This record gives sequence, structure tokens and C-alpha cells, in this order.
Amino acid sequence: MRKSMINVARIYKKLRQQAAAKHPIAAAFSLHVKSSVHDSERHFAQSGNGGTYVAPEISQLKESKIKAILAHEIAHLLVEAEAVQLPPANPTYDQLERHVDKIAEQTFGIPIYYDEKGIEDCVFHPAFKRPRPAGLR
Ligand SMILES: [Zn+2]
Repeated sequence: MRKSMINVARIYKKLRQQAAAKHPIAAAFSLHVKSSVHDSERHFAQSGNGGTYVAPEISQLKESKIKAILAHEIAHLLVEAEAVQLPPANPTYDQLERHVDKIAEQTFGIPIYYDEKGIEDCVFHPAFKRPRPAGLR
């Protein structure tokens, strides 16, 4: 693994440990590299079946973005595992994504902002949006 991806893995491991302190099932979540995940300028990660899949390009982002993206993805897995408060029944895509951000913020004690490109970031900037803009894909 390249040094830069080792940094991504280190951030994931730290967040997973933090999540597992509150929700033990998180200890079993796994991180994988999958190039096809980077299918748009803003998309670097996806999660499902207890695993988070990241494109190598994520390693080139600022650490505050890597952290916010991975926190969001771990929150997806917590919701999937029903370890946390669930979204309303039959949520719209935007409702689900905003709910996941709320879980990420509660679990990790960080804010989830969206930059001009729609990429998550956990450090405030006046140009960033919070909550997640509607319609973001
Ligand atoms: Zn999401």
C-alpha cells in the first residue's frame, strides 16, 4: 500500500475505534480500496455490508476532508447495522444522507460541511454548506 493510502487507513482505524466505543459492532467494519468508486469529481467513497470502499484519489484530499468523508461512511454502516437512531421510514435520498451526517456528527463530535464541489469537510469555511445541500449526488 502507498504511504498516502496508509494515512487514509490510519484515519479510518481511529474513527472506527471511536465509533466502537459507543457502538461495538463498528469494530468489525472494514476498509477496502476500489478504483471505480471515484465516478464523479466529488465521490470518493461508498459503504455497504459492513465495508467502506474508497478510491485511491481520496488520499490526495486534505485530512479534514478525508476525516469527514470516512466519518460519513462509518455513519452509513452504523445506520445499516441499526446500531443508531434510524431515519424516518422510506426516506428520500436527501433525508437519508442528512440523517447519516447527523449520526456522524453525534458519533464523532465533528461538524460535516460540504465545500463548493460538494465534498465533505469537518473544518469550517464561510463558503461551505451545512446541512448537506439537497440534490447532491
Ligand atoms: Zn452518504
